[in-house]
Amino acid sequence: QTVFIPRELDANEPRVAASPDTVKRLAALGFDVVVEAGAGLNSRIIDTDYASAGAAIGKASDVAKADVVLKVRRPGDAELKSYKPGTAVIAIMDPYGNDAAVAALAKAGVTAFSMEFMPRITRAQSMDVLSSQANLAGYQAVIDGASEYDRALPMMMTAAGTVPAAKVFIMGVGVAGLQAIATARRLGAVVTATDVRPAAKEQVASLGAKFLAVEDDEFKAAETAGGYAKEMSKEYQAKQAALTSEHIAKQDIVITTALIPGRPAPKLVSAAMVASMKPGSVLVDLAVERGGNVEGAEAGKVVTTANNVKIVGHLNVPGRIAASASLLYARNLFAFLETLVDKTTKTLAVNRDDDLVKATMLTDGGRVVHPNFVKADQ
Ligand code: NAD
Repeated sequence: QTVFIPRELDANEPRVAASPDTVKRLAALGFDVVVEAGAGLNSRIIDTDYASAGAAIGKASDVAKADVVLKVRRPGDAELKSYKPGTAVIAIMDPYGNDAAVAALAKAGVTAFSMEFMPRITRAQSMDVLSSQANLAGYQAVIDGASEYDRALPMMMTAAGTVPAAKVFIMGVGVAGLQAIATARRLGAVVTATDVRPAAKEQVASLGAKFLAVEDDEFKAAETAGGYAKEMSKEYQAKQAALTSEHIAKQDIVITTALIPGRPAPKLVSAAMVASMKPGSVLVDLAVERGGNVEGAEAGKVVTTANNVKIVGHLNVPGRIAASASLLYARNLFAFLETLVDKTTKTLAVNRDDDLVKATMLTDGGRVVHPNFVKADQ
């Protein structure tokens, strides 16, 4: 059976869904691997590296021969025309709010898997694309913030005088926020952080940063069984804003990463808070694609405010560190695909009763099958 890895068509997507390492592993599983020419270029992987690992270098139309397609982003209508029905397509499908695209996947007859729905259970840790990519995004957010900041981050004591350490505040300490704390600490900044989940407090302390939060009864109950944050009440949000506004005014770099599953990102930094910051301060909003945590942040832009504060709203932040992101993403996909293969016959044998399959399978046999997206009239 054949696995095909196409070149991503989205201009904003430099990542690729296979690495030379995973090509070798796929071949060892019994697959013929075909990589579209140039697929890895923006992740600094050249065709000869794939070829040496055992892949054939092909063209976009080779997708028609594929039993499995590994991708970063959901294939669009034009791409789907060449897919044969029954092909397993594994990617970040981003189905929320994209009903027509989900319907197109069903119509093409492909078995589409949404990697971002992988359950966060021990067995699936190696397949967790949200974590592997958020971890790198948290790192990159600090690098982006530091490069927009006109001063040094570490304290520097020199014969010519002392440069003070930068103050960095991380808002939202899930996977991205924790890595942002660690990265800012490594660069010598004085780091504080906030979150609404009590579990975050200890993690922040263990990384050597100071935790700041409104720790009332609502805070104590803010974590869902799945480990995510709940949307907080208006009253809590007001208390949180009162606590953080004074703090933000004194910060040099603020990095926001706060998300709530299935909801718009919470607004944590108002325009007034941005206006209270010193000239040259920087905000990096990692939630910008989900509506943003910072008022005034614009997706895909670095905004400079009237008081000379920069608000960084880069799109696809893991893609800004694509060579690293692709290696981890490729391993996540391989780890999942390995569970879909019968080791004796060395062929695809998708067990539709498996919890990982049930959680991620979006379309199958011409229909939308994921419970969150099935339409009554189907
Ligand atoms: P996320 O991307 O959904 O959100 C980022 C952070 O924003 C979270 O920590 C959240 O609590 C915080 N947040 C939400 N609203 C906020 C507000 N109003 N103010 C301040 N902060 C706010 O989170 P994530 O990185 O996906 O992590 C979610 C959870 O999953 C965490 O508990 C994490 O430890 C856990 N996790 C578990 C596994 C695993 O077991 N395999 C893997 C990864 C993450």
